[in-house]
Amino acid sequence: MKYQYWNEQFEKMPRPDLESWQLQRLRAVTATALRTPFYRERLTKAGIRNEAGIKSLEDLRRIPFTTKQDLRSGFPYGFLSIPREEVVRLHASSGTTGTPTTIYFSRDDLSRWTSFVARCIYGTGCDKTDVFQNMITYGLFTGGLGFHAGGEEVGMLVIPSGSGNTARQFRLMQDFGTTVVHATPSFLLHVESRMREEGVRRESLALKRAFAGAEPYSEDTRRRIEGLLHIDVYNSYGLSEMNGPGVAFECQCKNGLHIWEDGYIAEIVDPQTLEPVADGETGELVLTILCREATPILRYRTRDLTGFYTEPCPCGRTHRRLRRITGRSDDMLIINGVNVFPSQIEEVIMAMKEVGNNYLIVVEKDGALDRLTVKTEVGPEIFMDDARPLNALRDRIRAHLQASISINPRVELHEHGSLPISEGKAVRVKDTRPRDL
Ligand code: AMP
Ligand code: ZN
Repeated sequence: MKYQYWNEQFEKMPRPDLESWQLQRLRAVTATALRTPFYRERLTKAGIRNEAGIKSLEDLRRIPFTTKQDLRSGFPYGFLSIPREEVVRLHASSGTTGTPTTIYFSRDDLSRWTSFVARCIYGTGCDKTDVFQNMITYGLFTGGLGFHAGGEEVGMLVIPSGSGNTARQFRLMQDFGTTVVHATPSFLLHVESRMREEGVRRESLALKRAFAGAEPYSEDTRRRIEGLLHIDVYNSYGLSEMNGPGVAFECQCKNGLHIWEDGYIAEIVDPQTLEPVADGETGELVLTILCREATPILRYRTRDLTGFYTEPCPCGRTHRRLRRITGRSDDMLIINGVNVFPSQIEEVIMAMKEVGNNYLIVVEKDGALDRLTVKTEVGPEIFMDDARPLNALRDRIRAHLQASISINPRVELHEHGSLPISEGKAVRVKDTRPRDL
């Protein structure tokens, strides 16, 4: 196979050179981080007063971990390390209880991010002859604008279709000869079943490849999408705290995701002891971003569970590969690609006085997509035989939830005392989606 590299010098950089680049960047990022009140306190406590405190990559382990909770505590500007006037963009992701984590970008940050995404896209064999339909949410979510800019950088014709509306997606594909798409794996499966229902013939499409990410999926799901749509599917991993897409991506070997070690330092730790796991073992991915000046984040606990492949990749890239992400070490749910913490739902419903004490969050498959149902008991003073106020309450809960979690759930109201009570620890989430990871 002939491999193509966007930035061959960096993608095939010998490990010793890559590590000295990392050390140099880590020093620079530490200096930047020391400008924020949070890291000034944390790093000083750890005995790191300036960048000279980082003498080797081993010193990374002296830096304390950063959690999503920490980032929330700095909302809105606590982690900003350059003058506000130098910031040209922000993105945000869900917090554990509604407060988002916000990431800022300088102009240079955006161009660095864009070249990492371009590197991912180009490495799958795409080039400027391709037509790229970006079927993912635009807006505060990084997947839309991140892939959009990366696609343009490669020189592809980018169609900013956004997600949803399958009929329009098909029309765009047919009208403009789309060859590459980006979507969540569940949306790709949904697209395929709608194609069959609407009688769209595969031969009327020029599709060759898809980038699928933002949520966990199995190797079987990949093969299924590839078989049904006759395309190559590449796994795309990223998170907003680390810019978004462009953190780790599969090359044409489609066997593990190269994590771009000139932009990130990756560690895998045991989520309980926080000690590094043995090479190749599964644990929690911890990332330090080396390629952003406006919002430095050191040793971020991603909560994503994965491990490294230990053998080198046939493509010749020297950056290590992550195994498919199999799950999380916290309770975050990913529903059609959107992150939702059960605590966000609880916060919304418990703030409403008509709602009783017991509730249940149900996540299940509805065709290829995920469906969220929130079942809540009503307070003892509410009668279940009076439909009008109940309908109004249901609508109000739905609207509040949608405003908080950006998902429109089904809401079911149940009589006071009628939802099952579990012995011991309450079971608030029932996730019946098949997990064949
Ligand atoms: P966000 O910050 O909204 O971009 O969400 C990031 C989270 O989405 C990650 O921490 C993962 O839990 C999940 N995620 C993103 N890409 C993938 C992927 N390819 N496989 C599994 N999970 C993913
Ligand atoms: Zn490779």
